[in-house]
Amino acid sequence: MSKRDTERFEPRSRKVKILATTGPASRDPEMLRKLFKAGADAFRVNMSHGEHATHANTIEAIRALEKEFNRPITILADLQGPKLRVGTFREGQAVIRHSGHFTLDRNPEPGDETRVELPHPELFGLLEKGQRLLINDGKIRLKVLEASDDAILCTAEVGGVISDRKGVNVPDAEIPIPALTDKDRRDLAFAVQQGVDWIGLSFVQRPDDLAEARRLMGGGVRQGAPALCAKIEKPMAVRRLAEIMELADGIMVARGDLGVELEPQEVPPFQKKIVNLARTAGKPVIVATQMLESMIESPAPTRAEVSDVANAVYDGADAVMLSAETAAGDWPEEAVTIMDKIAQHVERDESFLERVRFHDTPPDATTADALSHACMTIADTVPISAITVFTGSGSTARRVARERPSVPMLVLTPSMKTARRVGLLWGAHAVATKDIGSFEEMIAKGKRMALRHGFGQAGSKLIALAGVPFGTPGSTNLLHVVTLTGQELDKRES
Ligand code: PGA
Ligand code: MN
Repeated sequence: MSKRDTERFEPRSRKVKILATTGPASRDPEMLRKLFKAGADAFRVNMSHGEHATHANTIEAIRALEKEFNRPITILADLQGPKLRVGTFREGQAVIRHSGHFTLDRNPEPGDETRVELPHPELFGLLEKGQRLLINDGKIRLKVLEASDDAILCTAEVGGVISDRKGVNVPDAEIPIPALTDKDRRDLAFAVQQGVDWIGLSFVQRPDDLAEARRLMGGGVRQGAPALCAKIEKPMAVRRLAEIMELADGIMVARGDLGVELEPQEVPPFQKKIVNLARTAGKPVIVATQMLESMIESPAPTRAEVSDVANAVYDGADAVMLSAETAAGDWPEEAVTIMDKIAQHVERDESFLERVRFHDTPPDATTADALSHACMTIADTVPISAITVFTGSGSTARRVARERPSVPMLVLTPSMKTARRVGLLWGAHAVATKDIGSFEEMIAKGKRMALRHGFGQAGSKLIALAGVPFGTPGSTNLLHVVTLTGQELDKRES
């Protein structure tokens, strides 16, 4: 393909980010480009499906887009985690009768309407009478009647069609399996080697699961490893949320599996609780799954889906996610376009900021938080076109985003990794740029970058936030308000 003319990238006018899952419907470079242009800020590579070679091509295509548009793009590699699945069927599928019996056993022969293999030895001898087994996203509900060391006899409270390798959720038991399977370990090594920005850790049950992932990655973001997003999709994780939040860099409200493991009506209050806790902690939070589900097959969403996306934006989530809509659906570009439209419309609502700030996030007793809070108040008091944040690791940007300021945040960082990582952060527009050495240089660069990226014009005021001496982590101590003359761009610089 011949190199096309570089198109000018218009900064997104929305603060909430869109995370789009890649897959057969979107991994073609042309489609990825369309999704990016339609509003995808970040892409999820789902390690549950596909080969490493395919994922490597997807990642390469995203990095090419990044070059073409000269914009950092965030990549999250989502590990499958210990997802339990049934074996296969003689005919590819079978029908489990309502109120009938069905057995899960250790026999690897293909199954039928009476039985199938459950290739997870940990579950035998663990499950007890009365516990539930939910298959295919909870569509089939089995109850254990009798469990022995090699067979689990169940009654089908709700029957239905079961097919090869369908997922199994066991909400009533804590399963003694590590959060990272052998496959996850291989996938994690691959993702790190590919230089992805975030790792999604599925079915986190305990804080130790995060510690284990960090150990395998050789440390945290300060050691150059990807950031770690804990997916909250187990009741166990909900119970230990505070500890998990402490260890994670970001959080996903993984409503798909969470809604199977819990009663569906329990999910909305948890969504709000998880979003609020993450916002208080200053860590990006993603609301995920079934956001525009009907758009897998239809070019238009349901009213309820539009409401769901809108409410996640009103909750002040950092990002909203598309799953099968963009990975395997018929309308991937339309799904991103509609999500973008919903978010923009909500953010233009005059009650938007008030609703977002309904959840109070009082600053911690640190200089960084006091100054971040001041940025928010200044921008609410005088017309400010952007908050320019100079940061190495991105930590100052997280503290500012936590305040949910009314104006965009221009994140200037010498680290491309940081620029990519903050792509999931509310209101952040990151630019990787050469390091600065002095106060004068910082102000000059802040002004130039604001003009270049469309955050202000002659006469606009900017806030500059930084730590002096430059390059010292955790030293945020400088807040300056400057006015653009509009002439700053004349000076040559990169
Ligand atoms: P998944 O995670 O799409 O990897 O299952 C998200 C969820 O469970 O909601
Ligand atoms: Mn899940």
